[in-house]
Amino acid sequence: SKNILEIKNLKAYYKVLKGEVKAVDDISLNIRKGEILGLAGESGCGKSTLASTLISRKPPLHYISGDVRLLGKNIMGMNQAEFQKMRLRNISLIPQYALDAFSPTKKIKTLIRDLVQEHGISTGRKFFDKVEERLELVNLTPSVLNRYSIELSGGMKQRVIMVVSTILDPELIIADEITSALDVSSQRFVATMLANLRDKGIIGSAIFITHDLSILYQIAERLMIMYAGHFTELGPTDEIVNKARHPYTRALIASLPQVGIQYRDKKLSGIKGTPPYLLNIGEGCRFRYRCPYAVEQCEKTPVREKVAEGHYVSCWRWKELGSDHNG
Ligand code: ATP
Ligand code: MG
Repeated sequence: SKNILEIKNLKAYYKVLKGEVKAVDDISLNIRKGEILGLAGESGCGKSTLASTLISRKPPLHYISGDVRLLGKNIMGMNQAEFQKMRLRNISLIPQYALDAFSPTKKIKTLIRDLVQEHGISTGRKFFDKVEERLELVNLTPSVLNRYSIELSGGMKQRVIMVVSTILDPELIIADEITSALDVSSQRFVATMLANLRDKGIIGSAIFITHDLSILYQIAERLMIMYAGHFTELGPTDEIVNKARHPYTRALIASLPQVGIQYRDKKLSGIKGTPPYLLNIGEGCRFRYRCPYAVEQCEKTPVREKVAEGHYVSCWRWKELGSDHNG
């Protein structure tokens, strides 16, 4: 198959005192071999929940349904031991700033050793030779191994973590907000380094999660946009940037000064309000409360439709709105 990962109709809900938080509600997505897929949408739309169903199939979630296949294997049906064998080797998460969680009195080399030994990987000479090689690939000298984490900048730490997370050449990497705590130039650098690892074939594919579309614009071949737990739009990056059909996607793109010229739509500029609270949320398009194009039909949950090859949208009005909308 040309897909590394196949997600079908994934639902992931949290249970709280007053009911259910429908954080991921019917998401389908395939990740192709070798691609970087950017996952975007504003805070609370379910990006991290989606990631955690892939990597840890996490306990705070009380309800998960759907089908998730990694390299053809159903990971939802696996027990913890089986899944643990795939972690790091086939699928790996780049955590945000993990080195901060460790002792400041240990050297980076020791921290790395502790981290990977948990996965049963031997950390002899050969291992560290490989680490040193990889450090050079992300523009770090091997001398960082003998330094302490407090001596490293945020961007440097994030690159060390990237090296460790990808050391076994996984087919799929999940990067969740790995750049959000960094300054703008480190953000770009870390994102570019990830793309380099992919270009060199060290990692196969990546899901790069961020609320910052301008980073995705630079490194992702495809973009998927979520809004309040729902799918809104998916397609090639250029197509999403220039020919988005969903009013929410357009509003997001329009908010990017660098790339947002195409959607100078007065109705969409500076959309007010916040996403709805997901607790016990009912039927309907979740963007309808803020959408200047909402009509009665939007009380029903839109179905996902094909706009063009590889381009999908969930909006009842996508055909009427057209693609070169300058209203
Ligand atoms: P951000 O951009 O801020 O990281 P996100 O897109 O990653 O946001 P999630 O963290 O997946 O969003 O959260 C999705 C929804 O699930 C939110 O409404 C959030 O409040 C809720 N949520 C997340 N974790 C829990 C939890 N442990 N218990 C209850 N609700 C949760
Ligand atoms: Mg998140």
